[in-house]
Amino acid sequence: MHHFDYKDGLLHCEAVSLADIAAKVGTPFYCYSKATLQKHLKAFQDAFAGADHIVCYSVKVNSNLSVLDTLFTGGAGADVVSGGELFRALKAGGDPKKIVYSGVGKKEEEIRFALESGILMFNVESPLELLTIDRVAAELGLIAPIAIRVNPDVDPRTHAYISTGLKKNKFGIAIERALVEYRAARDLKNVEIVGVDCHIGSQITEIGPFVDAVQKIKKLVVDLKEEGIDIKYFDIGGGLGIPYDDETPPHPSEYGRAVIDTVGDLGLTIIMEPGRAIAGNAGVLVGRVQYTKDGENKQFIIGDTAMNDLIRPSLYGAHHGIKAVKQSSATRYADLVGPICETGDFMAKDRELPEMEPGDLYAVMSAGGYGFTMSSNYNSRPRPAEVMVDGANYEIVRKRESYEDLIRGEKTV
Ligand SMILES: *Cc1c(COP(=O)(O)O)cnc(C)c1O
Repeated sequence: MHHFDYKDGLLHCEAVSLADIAAKVGTPFYCYSKATLQKHLKAFQDAFAGADHIVCYSVKVNSNLSVLDTLFTGGAGADVVSGGELFRALKAGGDPKKIVYSGVGKKEEEIRFALESGILMFNVESPLELLTIDRVAAELGLIAPIAIRVNPDVDPRTHAYISTGLKKNKFGIAIERALVEYRAARDLKNVEIVGVDCHIGSQITEIGPFVDAVQKIKKLVVDLKEEGIDIKYFDIGGGLGIPYDDETPPHPSEYGRAVIDTVGDLGLTIIMEPGRAIAGNAGVLVGRVQYTKDGENKQFIIGDTAMNDLIRPSLYGAHHGIKAVKQSSATRYADLVGPICETGDFMAKDRELPEMEPGDLYAVMSAGGYGFTMSSNYNSRPRPAEVMVDGANYEIVRKRESYEDLIRGEKTV
């Protein structure tokens, strides 16, 4: 559920008309709904209320400080995958004791930063990384809390680019090797084993793969206990999907019930790392039609949103709903494209789209996750403004970039 609805014939975010924001802020801009973010976070907290748990929101999905602040104020922790994300999370007031750090390529300086910040745990993705963490912790005279990210070899039945828990993927340590790696970790002086972790992929629309994964890892936890390795945290990763089109992903409550039914009896604190399910449908990208032109057998609607602003359609062939800000039932077979010099630059392709004229505003729906965070300056396009709506009010939470921003730090020689 989200808070983007028509009122008096105009698309609103909560109580604010997107047309009003466009008139003040210009286009394109990202618009986020605070109430939607809060509601989605609460859905996870309620879903796991039957067990000790921490919701560690996946910062890479939408890392705007105001989004992080909203979620942290609501009680969330964070899952970070870089030093930069840790920096953002701390800046936004995140509690380090609720921050987990995942990712296959943690650098020494990032590990140092995380250790000095006192994070909850490192999700370790390889034997060499484990040794590096131990060494850096020794240099600092600290003990590094760790979990091993286990790759359970479960097919999440999602897009190949966003499945991460298969043997052929670069993530984690194969489940057959995990026990050996835990024994190795036990022998390290500056590492403390506190958890187990997995993350099998993203935009998962069925419960089955999650249950398969936690079941496999549960067996590992039991084996560890037999060897005297007691852990506190069972991190099940993120990955719950959202409806972009006609998908019907499980509700967080169903997901929570399935996880608790499977591993609740272990008595561990359950950590989950939802990202898309919290932020995806809490944001839209608003643009304005510049031109229309008739192609061979379809129309091209040329807008001012492009693949540099939102790359999901180009990168994954992802579907995003397109709504005209001014409500209308007229449609036309068309592509909504951007100004970038790439054929892959489209928001929607070969679709029945709302009929629109130059000057009309449109919203690219479900753009709150993996939207701005994956944006770039390709074609030297300043990145869009970001706006947060809270009831009848809104604030610009990131200024539109200027041409000067584009060349910051550059020089000629
Ligand atoms: C991307 C990512 C997530 C979030 O995935 P969603 O599908 O957006 O919920 C969680 N954990 C890790 C380790 C990730 O890389």
